[in-house]
Amino acid sequence: MAEWNDYALFWKETLNIIKSEKGEQEFSMWFNLEFLKAAEKEIFIAVPSSFYRDQVRQRYQNYIETKLKGLTGRDISIIFEIKPRENGEAVLERSVKSDPGEAAPEITPKKEKRTAHAQLSKDYTFERYVTGDNNNFASNAAQAIARNPGNAYNPFFIYGGVGLGKTHLMQAIGNYIHENSKGKIISITAENFTNEFVLAIKEDRMPVFKNKYRFIDTLLIDDIHFLENKWETQEELFHTFNALYDAKKQIVFTCDRPASELKKINTRLRSRFERGLNVDLQPPNFETRCAILKKKVEDTHITLSDEVISLISKNVSTNVRDLEAALTKLVAYSNLVGKPVNLDIAQQQLKDMFASPRQTNISIDIIQRVVADYFSLPSSDIKGKKRTQNIVFPRQLAMHIAREITEFSTTEIGQYFGRDHTTVMHACQKIEEKKQADPTLDSTIQTLIRMIKDANAKY
Ligand code: ADP
Ligand code: MG
Repeated sequence: MAEWNDYALFWKETLNIIKSEKGEQEFSMWFNLEFLKAAEKEIFIAVPSSFYRDQVRQRYQNYIETKLKGLTGRDISIIFEIKPRENGEAVLERSVKSDPGEAAPEITPKKEKRTAHAQLSKDYTFERYVTGDNNNFASNAAQAIARNPGNAYNPFFIYGGVGLGKTHLMQAIGNYIHENSKGKIISITAENFTNEFVLAIKEDRMPVFKNKYRFIDTLLIDDIHFLENKWETQEELFHTFNALYDAKKQIVFTCDRPASELKKINTRLRSRFERGLNVDLQPPNFETRCAILKKKVEDTHITLSDEVISLISKNVSTNVRDLEAALTKLVAYSNLVGKPVNLDIAQQQLKDMFASPRQTNISIDIIQRVVADYFSLPSSDIKGKKRTQNIVFPRQLAMHIAREITEFSTTEIGQYFGRDHTTVMHACQKIEEKKQADPTLDSTIQTLIRMIKDANAKY
């Protein structure tokens, strides 16, 4: 029978094979797996957090076990043991391959509270962040980072459309670290970072600026897309990033689109954004919208019936900020009139909000309608799931046009089509290819764009 030592060697060899198959980068990210001990058919492996364990299970457990079998000729299962780096106390857990419903562990703040951090909103905590399918991964990763800053995933890059909870999640990390450690945290928008930088240059105070940002423990920068085109600020951030990263200090960014879509950003800096863990936030589905509203109602003095909650959730599907706006309106009404809010009142008070979603742009809705009309399709088909060629092509065209004539990011465009940003990117690429092959396509696109602009003017 094989001894422990043999198993330790098998494990080492397995990791070598994996490293050569997966490459340095993937290996260093996901195979931080330390051999602990072995029994006849089991190997005990230490992982740094439950989040890490879940990811490894999902992505690699079968793969690793196959490699082990190749080397040992036996069916050996892996049992993960969580060994958090902070308190050292290991928690033994049997590895169960399919436990999708397992909830992330609750984070309980310590009893004695530190004074609130001046740059962090006290409301933006994990306790107040409702998790659903749309943000589960991002939220678990954020909690893992908060527990183990600088070590778990660095940098952490959160992206997604407006009002989907990027700032909240980033500041929740900040608040948790602030409460549980003594380190220095700076939380700032990319815009303010830029302003401070420009002022520091003007007033000849660059050493002060550098000192301020390079000797801290956690740096949170919100809305990093603001740095597009600001080449000097980018350069400064690049050096700040390197100093913090090398010292294993946690860095978190938020952005309205994936890093790969940031155009006027220095490639060196962009590659830093992509180095750690990049996660996206999607709009919440109906159930999650209901859960968010219920949570938010608790903070007000009013009560809302389940019917009212589901009425709002059904009609306000854009993002969480709009859900909050709907609730604020009902609270204001109830304050003024002193009456509880029933279904009729809610319907009446929110009818404007239900009828026309906020517009900052040519609406994607109009693009979908005009393109659908042009191809004699119902616009529900353009947004729908059907994949027949007579629908796929107009849908790709609509996505391409949306990308051309609006400021929406591919993530946001994807949201209007019930798809993710990679689908939009793929569509744009397909249309570009078709344009090369078919010279008349461009003029069709121009005609459509004119029709869309006309329709928008009348809207
Ligand atoms: P973003 O930065 O992505 O534009 P924010 O973080 O500012 O969005 O979120 C907008 C509002 O919605 C905030 O008040 C935030 O608290 C709330 N919010 C967003 N996502 C959630 C969530 N999952 N649970 C609870 N509140 C949320
Ligand atoms: Mg924000």
